[in-house]
Amino acid sequence: TVLGIPFDGQSSYLRGAAEAPGKIREALACESSNSWTETGVNLGAKGVYEDCGDLALAGADVFAVIENAVGELISKGRRPVSLGGDHSITYPIMTAVGKKHSALTIFHFDAHPDLYDEFEGNRFSHACPFARIMEAGLAGRLVQIGIRTLNQHQREQAERFGVEVLEMRSLPAHQALKAAGPAYISFDMDALDPAYAPGVSHREPGGMSVREAIAHLHAIQAEIVAADLVEYNPLRDISGTTATVAAKILKEILGKMIAG
Ligand code: MN
Ligand code: MN
Repeated sequence: TVLGIPFDGQSSYLRGAAEAPGKIREALACESSNSWTETGVNLGAKGVYEDCGDLALAGADVFAVIENAVGELISKGRRPVSLGGDHSITYPIMTAVGKKHSALTIFHFDAHPDLYDEFEGNRFSHACPFARIMEAGLAGRLVQIGIRTLNQHQREQAERFGVEVLEMRSLPAHQALKAAGPAYISFDMDALDPAYAPGVSHREPGGMSVREAIAHLHAIQAEIVAADLVEYNPLRDISGTTATVAAKILKEILGKMIAG
């Protein structure tokens, strides 16, 4: 079940990610490509997945609304795939997912570890979600892929939480992407090199090609119970390029979840 979360209120640098869900859907439906994933799943077939639209967040307690919505989908046996939004949304999502699935493995694609204890005085910033998640014991394992911005504080945080950091400079790391139990995929679009995905708030050179990202997604061996795709910023995009890339990543995540 695809769920749009149009929220960028915890972005530290630029707004715009709130406009992503609609743009990603548009790119996914675009007739320039067909509805089949590379792994042979037809996302255009009836009932293969559902889209429950965007959350209404105006004036709401945003994190509570996200947690409730995701919790409700999970209680119905659905596997939510959330479209952000900035990366702060992963904390309330995981609060709901972690209640249902204990000892979960998170496969986190990102240029940034997002492990700050606080960022500019804000503990719920998009720079902090994985610190909150690990503190709350919402995941058994955190595996980060594509990281290339570690500073001393975040190195210490990674050590403190036992994070398995697969830095960009040491990829590929296909063999490391195995989990015995249920798993969650959190995909920050800035894991990709800005040459492939300029439509992000924090462009960090030296990142993954779209092909490398898809190869790592395909290499995951685990039962994926939920996922998110975050930090696409349409205001920074060039000719919709990044929307197309986000839709492609979404497609392969959905295909992976459907085909098992
Ligand atoms: Mn992030
Ligand atoms: Mn990032």
